[in-house]
Amino acid sequence: MSTAAAQSVVSEDRFARLKGFLPRSLASAHIVIVGAGSVGSQLADGLARAGVGHFTIIDPDKVEPANLSRTVYRAADVGKDKASSLAGNLKAIDTAIEVEALASKLQDTKKDLLKRVFASADLIIGAADDVVAQILLNRISQRYHKPAMFVGIYARAAGGEVALSVPGLSACFECYVGGVRTDNGVERKINYGTGRLDGEVALGSDIQHVTSGALKIGLSLLSALSGDPEAKAGAFVLPLFVTKQTVALFGMEPQFFLFPELLRGAYAQYAFQSAWLTVHRKHNCPACSGPLAEDPIDAMAVSISKDTRAGLRNQIAGKKKETANGND
Ligand SMILES: [Zn+2]
Repeated sequence: MSTAAAQSVVSEDRFARLKGFLPRSLASAHIVIVGAGSVGSQLADGLARAGVGHFTIIDPDKVEPANLSRTVYRAADVGKDKASSLAGNLKAIDTAIEVEALASKLQDTKKDLLKRVFASADLIIGAADDVVAQILLNRISQRYHKPAMFVGIYARAAGGEVALSVPGLSACFECYVGGVRTDNGVERKINYGTGRLDGEVALGSDIQHVTSGALKIGLSLLSALSGDPEAKAGAFVLPLFVTKQTVALFGMEPQFFLFPELLRGAYAQYAFQSAWLTVHRKHNCPACSGPLAEDPIDAMAVSISKDTRAGLRNQIAGKKKETANGND
């Protein structure tokens, strides 16, 4: 069989086991992923295998040997840009996949290029190890009316979160940043998704647990937004927008964070746990409570609220104590 014939067989048959779950329109969906570390690279791989046909990958870093333990990269990628290495990985899954690799920091990428990229995005994924980039992405999502998903991993990957932010349908990422409060009164002040995992020692399996959840949530959101009634995966996220439970929290260690309090008295608890947190829109949210003063891409400077800044300071101070150098 010729190579071309082999490729066409791959294209025809590779969705046979996804029929009825996902819309065929995924082939024309454009996903922008900012951050191509463990979370971003695995998510891109999963989305490509599910049929997403167009990606833009933004990440300024190069693949390091330490990345091989929990990303999709291989030894041959070491020293190369993560963005272009990931592009190669996706093309190897299916040559029909279109990928644009931008090996630069979001904030340093050419504005005209970003405007074009985000204007055609169907879903924005924030998996950056850069708090400012995550906040900026949220504002871009609001300005361009694009759904976004922010994936964060906490210290040592003992926990993680997936936050959905869909303009016009839910509170945004910044409404959530700065604290967690459940409807039954459990509260923690300093906890939000920074996506930071700066060279943390952590098991790849724990990171994958969160990434796997994010993959299902992202595919479900894309299915729901496609309007294709045959795409059954969409039924998973739709009720969550009704109850405003747009942040999924995962625990990979027993006693993690608020789970002992949240699940007090529940029989047979250990890990893995999950909870869906309710996020209400903040009336003074700088990103979603009214029109943004200026296009965040033009401004390329994020004015972060006092509360958020205080939270960030605490988070960064905690991180400095326990992190090694380099990015995941
Ligand atoms: Zn908001």
